[in-house]
Amino acid sequence: MEPGSKVTLRWRGKILRGVFVKEDKGFIVLKLSNGYNVGIPKDEAEILSVEGREHIGKPRFHYRPVQNPDLPKVGIAATGGTIAARVDYVTGAVTAEFTVEDLVNTFPELNELATLVPRQVSNIFSENMVPSIWREIARGVYELLKESDGVVVTHGTDTMHYSTAYLSFALSTPKPVVFTGAQRSSDRPSSDAALNLLSSVYVAGYSPLKGVFLSMHESSSDGWNAVHLGTRVRKMHTSRRDTFRSIGRDPVARVYIEARGGRIVRKEFQLLDPEWTREHPLELRDHLNENVALLKYFPGMKKELFERVLLEHDGVVIEGTGFGHVREELIPLIKEAVDSGVFVGITSQTIYGRTHSHVYSTAVKMEEAGAVFLEDMLPETAFAKLVWVLGQTKDLERARDLMLTNVAGEITERSGIEWKL
Ligand code: GLU
Repeated sequence: MEPGSKVTLRWRGKILRGVFVKEDKGFIVLKLSNGYNVGIPKDEAEILSVEGREHIGKPRFHYRPVQNPDLPKVGIAATGGTIAARVDYVTGAVTAEFTVEDLVNTFPELNELATLVPRQVSNIFSENMVPSIWREIARGVYELLKESDGVVVTHGTDTMHYSTAYLSFALSTPKPVVFTGAQRSSDRPSSDAALNLLSSVYVAGYSPLKGVFLSMHESSSDGWNAVHLGTRVRKMHTSRRDTFRSIGRDPVARVYIEARGGRIVRKEFQLLDPEWTREHPLELRDHLNENVALLKYFPGMKKELFERVLLEHDGVVIEGTGFGHVREELIPLIKEAVDSGVFVGITSQTIYGRTHSHVYSTAVKMEEAGAVFLEDMLPETAFAKLVWVLGQTKDLERARDLMLTNVAGEITERSGIEWKL
């Protein structure tokens, strides 16, 4: 069997059809029509038919990128993930190394929107992201901002909201920085890659927004994309295209792009929150302390585990229950950690709503032990912020002040406690 052959096989009584990708450690790897790869044990598979190669989605035309001085310049910082990745039409595998040629060939409508300035920052799925790569992204985006009207960051969706949070703190920007990704890879008919990329390039090149944002589908069907604030957004569903939701606030803008036959037929931008058009200077503040943890408390968490996580880090963000609680028995360990110079911040695992240190006695004691209740900051945002804050100071008072100062919209006002899914 050659890579790319169309294969039908029987396995455990089921008939499977797909494109043969490779044989690996006794497994036949097939790409199914829904885009997923499956591995089937070779000795359990009965091959029923093998046909010629599949050429799904192979471009019929060759498009060249334009250098049109009338169009805005948009930087593309690629970090990996499935969006903006190039499909290998023989194996159906996806690689995230790309050139502007590849991009324009996959999404030819880009030529109508912008002159693209590419930069490959990394080439990883976002579950493999580490804070030092957040810093590389911040540096790459900073360089691109000097020579463009705005920047799009293509990123895997799993941890995109951690990266948008870090960049929101590490960069002050007079132009839009728009993260985007795809829940379905661009070789699948149902892919959201094209719309997300085109919408983000449109926002980066033309909108008055200033700051770090994330733009993905607003609903499960194609149409409007929501533009979320980088510090108040979260992946809320494993597979839906509208997986990203603004939490505790509304999106800052919406964008609509419709493309047909390689041409853009409609584009529209709606600003919902003018706050994010305020002027900012361009500045890189890429502080970083990688010895920070995010810890979800669970009923029955062992003292040894809690103690180890606290004492082995310079700072820990705890996702507590409800208003931000942990079991009373653990509270002396918070005091021990704080006394030895560890920053302990409290967020809530309810995701929606504000932490509170005065409603229940547990929280009162936690605060007395030195824990800092981080208002309604999202746990992932608080974690990224602590990485940034402890990169600039180890002084606990200064760290407390910085964590409780609203730097990039991460803390919402007390009024308007709304929630929607
Ligand atoms: N786990 C992958 C990632 O987050 C999913 C693919 C994607 O979202 O691009 O990178």
